[in-house]
Amino acid sequence: GCAQRLPGAPAGSPGARRLSNRSRRLDCGSRAGGSAEWGSSDEQRRGPRVSGDTDQEEMFPTKKSAVLMDGVILNGPTTDVKAGEKFVEEACRLIMEEVVLKATDVNKKVCEWQPPEQLKQLLDLEMRDAGEPHHRLLELCKDVIRYSVKTNHPRFFNQLYAGLDYYSLVARFLTEALNPSVYTYEVSPVFLLVEEAVLKKMIEFIGWKEGDGIFNPGGSVSNMYAMNLARYKYCPDIKEKGLSGLPRLILFASAECHYSMKKAASFLGIGTENICFVETDGRGKMIPKELDKQVSRARKEGAAPFLVCATSGTTVLGAFDPLDEIADICVRHGLWLHVDASWGGSALMSRKYRKLLHGIHRADSVAWNPHKMLMAGIQCCALLVKDKSVSFPLSAFGQ
Ligand code: PLP
Repeated sequence: GCAQRLPGAPAGSPGARRLSNRSRRLDCGSRAGGSAEWGSSDEQRRGPRVSGDTDQEEMFPTKKSAVLMDGVILNGPTTDVKAGEKFVEEACRLIMEEVVLKATDVNKKVCEWQPPEQLKQLLDLEMRDAGEPHHRLLELCKDVIRYSVKTNHPRFFNQLYAGLDYYSLVARFLTEALNPSVYTYEVSPVFLLVEEAVLKKMIEFIGWKEGDGIFNPGGSVSNMYAMNLARYKYCPDIKEKGLSGLPRLILFASAECHYSMKKAASFLGIGTENICFVETDGRGKMIPKELDKQVSRARKEGAAPFLVCATSGTTVLGAFDPLDEIADICVRHGLWLHVDASWGGSALMSRKYRKLLHGIHRADSVAWNPHKMLMAGIQCCALLVKDKSVSFPLSAFGQ
């Protein structure tokens, strides 16, 4: 009888099931704050062990506000609230002093570089059976900061970074502190609406009248989802029939496309040999005439073209494929057009550079990573889809 229900969620509903999963996870005990003693059910029934020594006290804080049912603690392990709050406060101060306030200091090093074997000696990464006292955990936090690359540093130059964005940082603090999951409205009412609003804005920038989208872990995953959608559109019974009985599906991408195309073709059972890499010009842009020729050739050879992946901002050269001309070819051959704008999508927000993506509104799907050029925290990646029909994207993902 320990499954809890969300207000308004009927027993057995997804909300109720998910919450009871979370209760189970809490029962496993966590290392920080020293909850490791809650390993055996005997100990759980007896209640917390209280120690006299200060370090021990910190390691095994007294349980507070335990909710008991039939002698079993339902909300365990509950750590000492006051000690926990103090720990969070001290850790936040440390992050403020050592990360945020030093982020703009050019006199500080970007990194205290150590080769892996030496770094292993300097860091205490052993996972022990017992918990650690708070002061040790704070020492560990200091070491994590000390030996990490300061990606916010003004002298840190890398594709994904350009200093510290204070506002996206606070947004991340908030999401971490609230620990939401956008799987249901009951669990995450605000963030669900936030997701909807952000996707809507991105869809507006693309220039679609309507659309749908999903955030996911990486542009590579967005590209794979897009490939899956395009294949589903081409053969809607793929979910039931699987790969058997399909013709030889073939897709087209520029020779400069991201390697995630190969990965996706391999994961989805399409096969890397069924990607036709289209020749590019001296600037790394796909040559539309070459694409047209390759599609016709593939058809003549008996293959089934189903998708063209154009790139807006190629990984190495930063080239933007000519989307309008590519879209014409897709219309002529009846092919799904996916634009991998993982990197270059954010140029849509620049009055000066948005012309580089001219024609993107004609795409069926777009991958766009605001963490790359918009300074959103890593990861922030969206796959946007023009076809808003309720069942289509969900059907393609097997729901
Ligand atoms: N597509 C392009 C053009 C990229 O440059 C990248 C990454 O650099 C990706 C896709 C993959 O994005 P992620 O690293 O988020 O999976």
